[in-house]
Amino acid sequence: MPDFSSIIRSIHTELDRNTHRGKVATYIPELAGIDAENFGIYLNCISGEDHKVGDWDKPFSIQSISKVLSLAQAFSIEGNSIWQRVDVEPSGNPFNHSSLLELENGIPRNPLINAGALVIADVLVSKLKHPKEEFLNYVRNLTNDDSIAFNTKVALSEKRTGYKNYAAAYLLKSFGNLNNDVETVLDFYFHQCALEMNCQQLTNAFYFLANRGYCMRNHAFLTESQVKRINALMLTCGFYDEAGEFAFEVGLPGKSGVGGGIIALLPNQYTIATWSPGLNEKGNSHLGMQALEQFTTATKLSIF
Ligand code: GLU
Repeated sequence: MPDFSSIIRSIHTELDRNTHRGKVATYIPELAGIDAENFGIYLNCISGEDHKVGDWDKPFSIQSISKVLSLAQAFSIEGNSIWQRVDVEPSGNPFNHSSLLELENGIPRNPLINAGALVIADVLVSKLKHPKEEFLNYVRNLTNDDSIAFNTKVALSEKRTGYKNYAAAYLLKSFGNLNNDVETVLDFYFHQCALEMNCQQLTNAFYFLANRGYCMRNHAFLTESQVKRINALMLTCGFYDEAGEFAFEVGLPGKSGVGGGIIALLPNQYTIATWSPGLNEKGNSHLGMQALEQFTTATKLSIF
């Protein structure tokens, strides 16, 4: 086995010297003040080992990473019928683009772009009696951690400024692909994006996708076939219009968020989370992308 501890330490030390760290997302005002100097890595191995470095224990806004968790919950409740309302193709577009939605009659390209996540949010709003609470409980159960919570300030901040998400939701509604009212679906969506976790919690939350559907307490959350499909979507659609680049450089299923977090995993081996809030021009964490490329290169542990 590679010496994980020294590998992640040397990656962190080398990248942390970088003065070019990308730009913190400012379009959600509440996120604009986050210090770009933060940088943490947490590796959670299925064998039971874990390794960490830097700011791994500071909570941050997981943003789009939450789309994988809402998809998992909707998939477990609703089964394959969700694929009638959302496709499984990479978009090659930024996360908040709506042109394809218009061209493709209100069927979002995949559940990991905003429009697709809004359809998934709509499924959960329809199916759950108390959607926000039950989604939060689902994530807490997955992670075995009741301290995980929504940051309501971040949710409200996005509610006030999320015009593109309103536009996408109304477009979906106009095509008959949103059953609940726009405000309710967006309120749910902005809260799911405003979940806060640190790198360790994130690796715990995603453990089930590296462990054939079983969480760290060995409870089943998805079937193996469902896990395969979600991991395939993360590989092909998890990084906005840089999913190809992530597969090319890193070679793992993963998902990023505009809060600067990235989660990635190697089935049956590990989950790894990085957090560095400075983003590259495609909206992915600048240092996080490089750290994961260096990690799979040094350990030779990618799906390829
Ligand atoms: N809540 C953000 C939005 O909808 C999520 C974006 C992201 O992390 O990619 O704009």
